[in-house]
Amino acid sequence: MKTIRLREGKERSLQRRHPWVFEGSIAKGSGDAGETVKVTAADGSFLAWGAYSPASQIRVRAWSFDEAERIDADFFERRIEAALAVRARLPIASDAMRLIHGEADGLPGLVVDRYADTLVAQFASTGSERWKDVIADHLLAATGLTRLYERSDANVRSLEGLEPRTGWLRGKGETEVTLQEHQWRLSLDVAEGHKTGYYLDQRDNRKKFADAVRHYGAKRVLNCYSYTGGFSVAALAGGADEVLSVDSSGPALARADAHVRLNGFDAARHTSLDADVNQTLRHCLEQGRTFDAIVLDPPKFAPSAAHAERASRAYKDINRLALKLLAPGGLLFTFSCSGGISADLFHKIVAGAGLDAPADGFILDRVGATPDHPQTICFPEGEYLKGLLILKR
Ligand code: SAH
Repeated sequence: MKTIRLREGKERSLQRRHPWVFEGSIAKGSGDAGETVKVTAADGSFLAWGAYSPASQIRVRAWSFDEAERIDADFFERRIEAALAVRARLPIASDAMRLIHGEADGLPGLVVDRYADTLVAQFASTGSERWKDVIADHLLAATGLTRLYERSDANVRSLEGLEPRTGWLRGKGETEVTLQEHQWRLSLDVAEGHKTGYYLDQRDNRKKFADAVRHYGAKRVLNCYSYTGGFSVAALAGGADEVLSVDSSGPALARADAHVRLNGFDAARHTSLDADVNQTLRHCLEQGRTFDAIVLDPPKFAPSAAHAERASRAYKDINRLALKLLAPGGLLFTFSCSGGISADLFHKIVAGAGLDAPADGFILDRVGATPDHPQTICFPEGEYLKGLLILKR
């Protein structure tokens, strides 16, 4: 077993059960890609077992802080069982959910989503890559399912020195799946969709939106960055008369249209627009259009804190335009999924947008990701999605 010895004073992070060891913290030692290594403090005392990653800034990702624990097939079985046992207790109003959420489930670099009878996994670290077959077999055994599609095509894999890989890992067949979420049905293609196919983390916020649209009687709804129209279907379910979905992905919009029909709504109530959101907001303003509810769910503008400043301007801009476009008493459901933008900073950005619009509003709700994308106490980096539901004055 190879040993990685940390520099003096660098043991605190692992002692606090934060699972990452950065390159600069290491005094001595190395390993092969994905190899299990022992990490010790400068004085030689045990800190963690982890997976070594020679190409990554995050040089070791900890598997376990228990010296007596062996990192073997049984270890992965235990971790997978534990993650599934928690999911069974969480309130998940869907047959689609995140079963394994990386670090939060003690399996750094591994994401597994279930879409009805299909599993989709992303192996984004050398450690999860090394144990791929063991993990795949346990996933099938633990869920009783037979199909597992691999979507290891996220950019983060290149930071780990891993090539992208997609395709059936277990089983085969159609990659098209239909899921049930709250009262609606949605389809996706696990081979083609964004991430693993769908944004499961917004499930409960879609329901909140449907409820708010109904409660406040919003009739004209603008869904910005709609992807396949999850919030659009929610708005229709909430009683909206007209919904405009805007996205820069044509295939996603075609699916949004299909979802309106799939859920039995009159297609005339929904319009798809393949366009840039910022430009669309400006056009709508020029045309003097107003809306009763607007969703802003943009892609990650700030992947890390280093991008926070430019991202802040981009968030502020769209929020300012949306606040202007809202009728008095209208709803803004605005999000940031950037890890580099804290909930506090996001609130400040939206405050700045309100000042510039000018518009004020009541914060009705502060929201995050669904509970199957858990955030843990010891891993603050796990926080990414935050949203504010605002009632314009
Ligand atoms: N709200 C969606 C998820 C949105 S993900 C849901 O509930 O499922 C972000 C979306 O923004 C993606 O679909 C992407 O195609 C789209 N997008 C990215 N940049 C854009 C831009 N400049 N204008 C319009 N859409 C954009």
